[in-house]
Amino acid sequence: MSFNIENLTRENIKSLTPYSSARDEFSGEAKVFLDANENSIGSPLIKWYNRYPDPHQQKVKEAISAVKSVPAENIFLGNGSDECIDLLYRCFCNPGKDNVVICPPTYGMYEVSANINDVEVRRAPLLDDFQLDLVHLENLVDEHTKIIWICSPNNPTGNSMDRADIEAVLNNFNGLVVVDEAYINFSRHKSFTAELIDYPNLVVLQTFSKAWGMAGLRLGMAFASPEIIHTLNKVKPPYNINQATQDLALKALEEVGQVNDMIKELVQMRVALKGVFEKIPFIEKVYPSDANFLLVKMKDARKVYEFLLDRGIVVRDRSNVTLCENCLRITIGTEQENTDLVDALADWHFNTLKSN
Ligand SMILES: *Cc1c(COP(=O)(O)O)cnc(C)c1O
Repeated sequence: MSFNIENLTRENIKSLTPYSSARDEFSGEAKVFLDANENSIGSPLIKWYNRYPDPHQQKVKEAISAVKSVPAENIFLGNGSDECIDLLYRCFCNPGKDNVVICPPTYGMYEVSANINDVEVRRAPLLDDFQLDLVHLENLVDEHTKIIWICSPNNPTGNSMDRADIEAVLNNFNGLVVVDEAYINFSRHKSFTAELIDYPNLVVLQTFSKAWGMAGLRLGMAFASPEIIHTLNKVKPPYNINQATQDLALKALEEVGQVNDMIKELVQMRVALKGVFEKIPFIEKVYPSDANFLLVKMKDARKVYEFLLDRGIVVRDRSNVTLCENCLRITIGTEQENTDLVDALADWHFNTLKSN
């Protein structure tokens, strides 16, 4: 049996008549818009905010298309990637019947969103080197498995999955393979968006929240076949991307150079910080990272976490997560923030020396 989007889509979604907004029914040029019950006089803020935004975000998609070299018809925009994740469940997974596979330790929303949608989660934990366990993955899949979630570079481990392994999953699984590339801009590896033509079952997620520096705007991207994009569009709220976000994303997309400079700087600081961490005696391991954070294994991670909090520095405690025992996940900060962090870690080291 080969991949077939028809077989994968929920029956109620296939037969759904989506909401047709005023902006859907008329989207051409006109002088007078009296079709959407907006405030015709204006807005207390920016003049055009009295109008509903483009429900299809056409201009933003065209700008993304130019930057990413992906046709606009292969792009879906969500209110953060988190909305894309939820919509994939709602379009393709029957509550109480279908299942998905995740590869922990990984991003928490795949599981939370599954639970919200009453979809069973099956786990194929990563191997000791944080790579995919293909044998375990294959054993978990049955006829009700709709999605395999692969995060690469992975949160919280920081590594990229082997490209050949992801391709093996794409070639051997007839459901959707979602490759979450939230951190791809910090990696040396190539995005899977270039493989969309070859794999009708591939969905690539990216976001404006990390490298693009716009977590506050809430804008996520899903790249997939036009059929998958069409299905997501049927289910999304009509105006899921607000006008302010569309305006600001368009401006940001003109600043690719500035964003690339920040990425370079963050990667340089990541490399430098890894070197510094490796010289701190109570730090046992700094895992290789293709992202803008480092996963760091140390003695008494929980106590170090609390000590840092006392100093006003908050990192992510992952010490209770399987395979991340005694690990903290530390985002690369500004030069000053990184210095403050290293100073605090040095103080912790000397405090433990004194008390022993
Ligand atoms: C941060 C992150 C996201 C981004 O989610 P948004 O909703 O776009 O902010 C997605 N996936 C992973 C793995 C992340 O770490």
